[in-house]
Amino acid sequence: MMRNNTLGLFSSALLAVLFGTAASQAADTAPRNPESNPDKNNGKLQLEKVVENVYAIVGPLGNRTPANLGNNATFGFLVTPEGVVLIDSGGTYKGAQRIHQAIKSVTDKPVKFVINTGGQDHRWLGNDYFKRQGAKVIASKQAVVDQKSRLKDIYFVLSNTAGDKAIEGTVESYADIQFDDRYELSVGGVKLQVVHPGAAHSPGDAYVWLPAQKVVFSGDIIYTQRLLSVMAFSSSKSWVHAFEAVAALQPEHVVPGHGKPTTLQTARQSTYEYLTTLRNKVAEFMDQGGVIQDVSKIDQSQFSYLENYDSLKGRNVQQIYQEMEWE
Ligand SMILES: [Zn+2]
Repeated sequence: MMRNNTLGLFSSALLAVLFGTAASQAADTAPRNPESNPDKNNGKLQLEKVVENVYAIVGPLGNRTPANLGNNATFGFLVTPEGVVLIDSGGTYKGAQRIHQAIKSVTDKPVKFVINTGGQDHRWLGNDYFKRQGAKVIASKQAVVDQKSRLKDIYFVLSNTAGDKAIEGTVESYADIQFDDRYELSVGGVKLQVVHPGAAHSPGDAYVWLPAQKVVFSGDIIYTQRLLSVMAFSSSKSWVHAFEAVAALQPEHVVPGHGKPTTLQTARQSTYEYLTTLRNKVAEFMDQGGVIQDVSKIDQSQFSYLENYDSLKGRNVQQIYQEMEWE
């Protein structure tokens, strides 16, 4: 397929840099919700308690920058009597160190497991740091395939956004435990289910469900506060189903892949409604003979309250158009 050739991958990386730069500028200069905008504190991570022993670590909503060390996402962890389970290891070695500092502010217990919820850099490039601390890493097989296949692009974008100083010390390291669709584990008496419901933002996306706490860590299946990003490697069709799988759990707390912990209701508005609305509008546009050159005219303004709206809306609708041409 056309979008899988080398040129396509390379140009998508370039696009990501261009759009990403615009996104971080938009976030720096015109925050829509200044008081709740994590971009304002120079890339620092915000620790938020979700329920007893369960925490979110909320990073900036904008792009990778030298200050945020590639940690432009939301991470999370669970403290058990046996040790810590971390969800996503950060975008760089130094970024992983910063995540570890946030964990250490809560507990001295070691990080026993790290779960990578997808193939994007901030989900896994900090693995090497945590493995050196003795952690075992868990990811879906699809996520590992994706991580390996996009490695060059990932470093290219990181280098052009976070910069080479932020990347120093980073070594790619892949999951010790790889699963097809589902992996269950019990750590210190706490049960976790890790599920790959199909492709979403990236081909190997997974969520982590704590059934007793009714908390879900959604990875990039859910974005709140900022506009989600549809990339050449995303699948908007399957993403809709992945969201439905998370919704079927009826979580009381959603820790999204980007943004602060929230409710399913809010997650539905910013992720599910966006994807389904856009897919419906693009289908209608194609039925009327609309061409890709005009597709960015489709009105998305009901989502303009989300950060990065101006910089990402054009690419998102173009990606969905290209994807739907093949459906
Ligand atoms: Zn992400």
